[in-house]
Amino acid sequence: MELPYSDLHCHSCYSDGELTPAELLQIAAERGVKVFALTDHDTVAGVQELRAAAVDSPVKVLSGAELTCGWGRGMVHIIGLGFDETDSLLGEYLQGLDKLRLERAGLIAQKLVKRNIPDLLPRAIELAGAGQIGRPHFAQAMVEAGVVNNEAQAFNRYLGAGKVGDVKVEWPTMEQGINIIRQSGGVAVLAHPTKYNMTFTKVRIMIESFNEQGGDAIEISYPGIESGHTLQLDKLATKYEMMISAGSDFHKKQFHWTAIGKYPGYSSNNAHVLSKLLQH
Ligand code: AMP
Ligand code: MN
Ligand code: MN
Ligand code: MN
Repeated sequence: MELPYSDLHCHSCYSDGELTPAELLQIAAERGVKVFALTDHDTVAGVQELRAAAVDSPVKVLSGAELTCGWGRGMVHIIGLGFDETDSLLGEYLQGLDKLRLERAGLIAQKLVKRNIPDLLPRAIELAGAGQIGRPHFAQAMVEAGVVNNEAQAFNRYLGAGKVGDVKVEWPTMEQGINIIRQSGGVAVLAHPTKYNMTFTKVRIMIESFNEQGGDAIEISYPGIESGHTLQLDKLATKYEMMISAGSDFHKKQFHWTAIGKYPGYSSNNAHVLSKLLQH
């Protein structure tokens, strides 16, 4: 089956992206994307708006979310696609994450205050608006307050892995993330496996564990991935009989390394998640 051009990983203003779902859809259409999924961090708040905008659009849309999950001592992102976004258990799960993220934001602000940075919580909450709050909102608030020159510097100095603002919280586990996606009718995709600061040996272990816990697919193409890694991830998908997925992980226009619908080309003999998601 010839699959339509798609982007199955994208963020809106309902998490740490800057555009509304309707704006994203408009750009996706202009760029020739035929199937588009909104995958905000730990929320489906933008999905209804996306569906409403899609009524007058040639682009087919899919529900989605990028779930933050604990794995061992670390953290992974699991993308759910094509689930019922009105599912009540999924709703409860995401409400738990709203609470967890707000508590975490409070802790991040406190940690930064101890480093003599002004209390950024009110502004970070304001920047998050109706969306899910995250470290990028603190990065923005730090730039505004003149604490750092840009968001990358905010992550390098204060918010990135192992830094003071990388507050440890008990995220739901990888298994819980996979289960909630599957029970609400979706497919579970392991997001950007090479972006967790792990050796490739550990990436293999993570994928094995993702497969054992019922994961459906691996994201094998996304901005910044080396072509050799795409090949290796594709081989692992073959080994575990998992599907593959790809997406831009678009957040905002100023992030010049990516754009809606943009990710490295690849070839694969594995089934693409769309072959399942477009069945009905
Ligand atoms: P959170 O979901 O609050 O843990 O924040 C993670 C988000 O921060 C990711 O989804 C990225 O969008 C963003 N991010 C992570 N690392 C960096 C970085 N080094 N520079 C800029 N943004 C980053
Ligand atoms: Mn993000
Ligand atoms: Mn991610
Ligand atoms: Mn993402």
